[in-house]
Amino acid sequence: MLNRNRILFSQKLEISLIAVLVILSHALTPDTDAKMMSADVSEENLAQATYIIEREIVPDIDEIIVLDAGHGGVDSGSVGENGAYEKDINLAITLKLGEYLTENGVQVIYTREDDQVAWIDTTEDLQKRIDTGIHASASYFISIHLNSSEYNDGARGFEIYTDGRSDDIVMLASSIQTALNGLAYTADRGIKNTHEMGSLYVVDQNPVASLLLELGFISDSSDLTYLNSSYGQQEIAKALGKAILTHLI
Ligand SMILES: [Zn+2]
Repeated sequence: MLNRNRILFSQKLEISLIAVLVILSHALTPDTDAKMMSADVSEENLAQATYIIEREIVPDIDEIIVLDAGHGGVDSGSVGENGAYEKDINLAITLKLGEYLTENGVQVIYTREDDQVAWIDTTEDLQKRIDTGIHASASYFISIHLNSSEYNDGARGFEIYTDGRSDDIVMLASSIQTALNGLAYTADRGIKNTHEMGSLYVVDQNPVASLLLELGFISDSSDLTYLNSSYGQQEIAKALGKAILTHLI
């Protein structure tokens, strides 16, 4: 599957280049009616060539990714000292990540795209999120959260949770860990196995291979400043997006 995507990508790139050469060779062919021809080429044909490039060089990726912005609706998740809600930061990063992946040819499905949620209690909540991935026949389920500590113990950093069910999901976790470390915005608290660290429903009860990302501590002012900024959210989304995309291609 992964190699096939790479082959498709290079074939499409080749086709795009041929299309551009054919159109340009038309443009450069001497013609008695050169004036009309050049007008024809410079607008319509070149626009067509540009369209072909933009459309075709996006890799053809079959996998569907479910992005799950943690909490939502009446469930705000953790709350920062400045009144920031975890649910809002989770959503902002999730939407930016989804935008990055979609632009790069990945099919993305969200468990929620705003603060409206389809469930009314937290028991139903988690299973509904999982069902979204099952119904979509998704390949991966990525849940976005923030951590919090009430002990004023200086806890900060990101954590990645996996049940380690396959080498593939552990490799994706590792790629994401490297990508987040590259941003150097906080500490690396490591990849954690849910069998050792306490069960997480959307990971352990999920038929779809799943990761839960705790991207930092909302209770730490340095983490919160970065996580709550548009710049930080964009950087994290891009880093996560690149790691996921590289894993898929
Ligand atoms: Zn959370």
